[in-house]
Amino acid sequence: DTAAISNFIRGMIDADLASGKYAKRTDPNGHPLPTVVTRFPPEPNGYLHIGHAKSICLNFGLARDYGGRCTMRFDDTNPTKEEQEYVDTIIDAVEWLGFNWKDPGGDHLYFASDYFDQMYHMAEYLITSGNAYVDSQSAEEMAKNRGNFTEPGKNSPYRDRPTEESLNLFRRMRAGEFKDGEHILRARIDMASPNMNMRDPAIYRIRHAHHHRTGDKWCIYPMYDYAHPIEDAIEYVTHSLCTLEFQDHRPFYDWVLNKLADGGFFKRPLPEQTEFARLNLTYAITSKRKLLQLVEEKIVDGWDDPRMPTIVGIRRRGYTPEAIQLFCERSGVSKADSWIDMSTLEGALRDDLDPKAPRAIAVLKPLKLIIDNFPETLTEDCTAPIHPHHPERGHRSFPISKELWIEEEDFIEVPSKGYFRLFPGNKVRLRYGYVVECTTCDKDENGKVIAVHCNYFPDSKSGSEGSANYKTKGVITWVSAKHNVEAEVRLYDRLFTDPHPDAGGKDFKATINPNAKETITAYLEQGMKTAHADEKYQFERHGYFVADRVDSKPGKPVFNRAVTLKDSWGK
Ligand code: ATP
Ligand code: MG
Ligand code: MG
Repeated sequence: DTAAISNFIRGMIDADLASGKYAKRTDPNGHPLPTVVTRFPPEPNGYLHIGHAKSICLNFGLARDYGGRCTMRFDDTNPTKEEQEYVDTIIDAVEWLGFNWKDPGGDHLYFASDYFDQMYHMAEYLITSGNAYVDSQSAEEMAKNRGNFTEPGKNSPYRDRPTEESLNLFRRMRAGEFKDGEHILRARIDMASPNMNMRDPAIYRIRHAHHHRTGDKWCIYPMYDYAHPIEDAIEYVTHSLCTLEFQDHRPFYDWVLNKLADGGFFKRPLPEQTEFARLNLTYAITSKRKLLQLVEEKIVDGWDDPRMPTIVGIRRRGYTPEAIQLFCERSGVSKADSWIDMSTLEGALRDDLDPKAPRAIAVLKPLKLIIDNFPETLTEDCTAPIHPHHPERGHRSFPISKELWIEEEDFIEVPSKGYFRLFPGNKVRLRYGYVVECTTCDKDENGKVIAVHCNYFPDSKSGSEGSANYKTKGVITWVSAKHNVEAEVRLYDRLFTDPHPDAGGKDFKATINPNAKETITAYLEQGMKTAHADEKYQFERHGYFVADRVDSKPGKPVFNRAVTLKDSWGK
């Protein structure tokens, strides 16, 4: 099931391996390089989300499956939006997902800002080789002269200034002699290109800003489209995978690398960019900017709110790395934008947890059941398997006594057809316990049922000889009213009511599901008292729950519902 689902990227890699395209590469010390090198290149400007998980699983997964390498690279070329806090959480998220960037060739954790000197020298080379020039137009002039999709652009009046003049200006830009926006370094390509990205794109801009790693060393910073191919080539990347919106940027990616290879900076074969469709998940949003809005406007309780599609959020919700990897495999890699249904993510979690999660009983909406013929002082142990399909994992036990908590929905005074649980005159089995026969109920002054009465059959206990004589259609879950753990339980649901909350410029905040978090007090099987943070259980009939990583303490557990047992959304 977890086997790699073949995709077009694997097909491409297989073809490159067959042709030996990247087979003969060596590093400067003459050591052979892996034939498959990918990278995960986040900008450290926010928390990672499920879309990033897709990219992580794809890039690190390919490296793993082909015995190659995936570099962990922080694309920190934009000084103003980046912070160390984000670097730390990203490292944490990737490691938690089960990947790492170490191999016999070293520890491949990189920062694009470490390449600033190299990038700068390459830019000087592009100037001296006639492939770049300093433009001194204003931003407005430049935008105007760029043309549009139907009209070619106009050459800048500075386009043909002498190479020496451009070089001199570029050095003075670096030295801090100019203000932001006074000059810009541009590639000299073709202002009439039908591809707007080839109309003399900017390479370096002036930005008097403090950088989280290089401090105030630089006041010029490389543009993403110039920096990215260089980063890839420095790290010996073979397959540079990015999302579809970068397709039109590919010609410039190739232009940069070919010019620099001609200049002797890089050896061929060069990295190649391939685009794939970004992950869009229904009932979720995957835009850092919009997620930030949810946090800042306190619509959710922070980045790690279990309703958030961030990696820290779904982790706290109870998702496992294995479930996320499984989801990424199942959702495939495609060349056309599409939506993956939230139920695919939820299904992956169920499939991962079902064989693993120990079982426990929880009563979420409690109603008192009184066994009138059960001796007042008697308590008796009932036993249940820890996991129904793994007897080797042993048993758990919990007491039964005269008063129990059952689920409110397990009693109806006047049953409808097909209702097999408690109603006066009906027999049901208390799961792992006795068969009881319902007699009557107590009501408050408003007619609300506050307790149910029954009698039990002492020879009907589950696992005993006599139990076979009792046939009941209904089985209900329960915990002893005197022996249980009272715990805060948070019932989470999807954050949005609309499957495409932000599609077509819609106001995603208008489709927030107000019932996506319900906090209740539940009665749990007494063994749950010692649950450790992050432990996952199946609460029988209710779904999979996790002891909250932040708020749960042994002795005082707090549980989150990660997912219900089956997909009951909308039913
Ligand atoms: P956002 O649009 O949310 O700001 P981003 O693409 O700007 O995300 P980066 O930090 O640049 O964020 O992303 C790192 C890597 O993750 C990139 O290679 C990017 O292509 C990939 N990625 C981001 N979002 C998705 C997604 N929804 N599906 C697949 N890959 C994604
Ligand atoms: Mg980006
Ligand atoms: Mg972005």
